[in-house]
Amino acid sequence: MNGDFNRRSFLGGAMTASWVASRAACISGQNSAKAERILDIHVHLFGTGDSGSGCRLSKTASEGKLFKYLAANLRLLERAETIDEGYELALVEQIEQSGLDRAVILAQDAVYNKHGKPDWNRTHFYIPNDYLLRIVAHHPGRMIPCVSINPERADAIEELNRCAAGGARLLKIHPPIQGVDLAEKKHTPFFRRCVDLSMIVMVHTGHEHTGPVIDIGLAHPRKLELALESGCTVIACHCGTGWPQDAPDMLPEFLAMVRRYKNLWGDTAVLGSAGRVRDFQRLCADRVASERLLHGSDFPFPAAPVAFARVIGFKRALSLQAMGNWMEQDLALKEALGIGRTSAERAYRMICNATNRQ
Ligand SMILES: [Zn+2]
Repeated sequence: MNGDFNRRSFLGGAMTASWVASRAACISGQNSAKAERILDIHVHLFGTGDSGSGCRLSKTASEGKLFKYLAANLRLLERAETIDEGYELALVEQIEQSGLDRAVILAQDAVYNKHGKPDWNRTHFYIPNDYLLRIVAHHPGRMIPCVSINPERADAIEELNRCAAGGARLLKIHPPIQGVDLAEKKHTPFFRRCVDLSMIVMVHTGHEHTGPVIDIGLAHPRKLELALESGCTVIACHCGTGWPQDAPDMLPEFLAMVRRYKNLWGDTAVLGSAGRVRDFQRLCADRVASERLLHGSDFPFPAAPVAFARVIGFKRALSLQAMGNWMEQDLALKEALGIGRTSAERAYRMICNATNRQ
């Protein structure tokens, strides 16, 4: 989760001419030799648990403006009787109408106490792995599961084995929200088991502005060294980026680390938001890092193309802002910035081809 959400105006309607043209070319087969499938690697599953799903969302979150904004715009309660079911329907519709072939859908584990038991008082957002696997099983052609396992849980390796047996090939850890220090040596067996199972490890890096943060220092890219040295394929979500006023600046460490570790990748989730314009440009300007980028939207948190008007031109930014499908809009903005489709094709090749999910 990251959701650098600033209240912005969302205009209804049309798509950019270039995006329409590129999609039309794919559909008509004009570029058939080049047309590759595309994947969004960072899409959240949400729920309040009102359908008995086991999801949890703290009162602070569910009564907040952001939740109300998203629920209204995604028309969650118009689609179904519960938020859980409404979100599933909204998610499928978004993917199907986005032009993307598939999306990696993320669960979210809890905060754990020193005995390795869930600490529900400090957990503001929880999506169980079983619920994620169940939802993905409803839409196997569109969704790929990314379970979430906090290595602090007493049964972390057991849960890892169980999720792998259930078909998961990716897992996500959110250290600053889940309160886990991935640099602690005690996590080595967990990472070694990830290597044995060919489980790709996604980790939140950089600043966080939506969920309650336990310790932002846990989001530093250097915390990934133990997992990388253990041999894991690691995806640094958000590439250690932040807003210009955030301290410390963690992006330089990510840029240095992609040079040291061939098994380190970065996703572009939330980079289309207003606060990340500066860091997104710094990232794209780095040739080595830009070749390791995997497309991610951070849906349901929308991008803000108008914030990039000085980079891509006011007219184009307005046109992108008017797009109705948030996943498509996010990819179109990144395409305008020069790294959209390439990073989405790279993500598809890495995740779908490697796991034989065609
Ligand atoms: Zn996220």
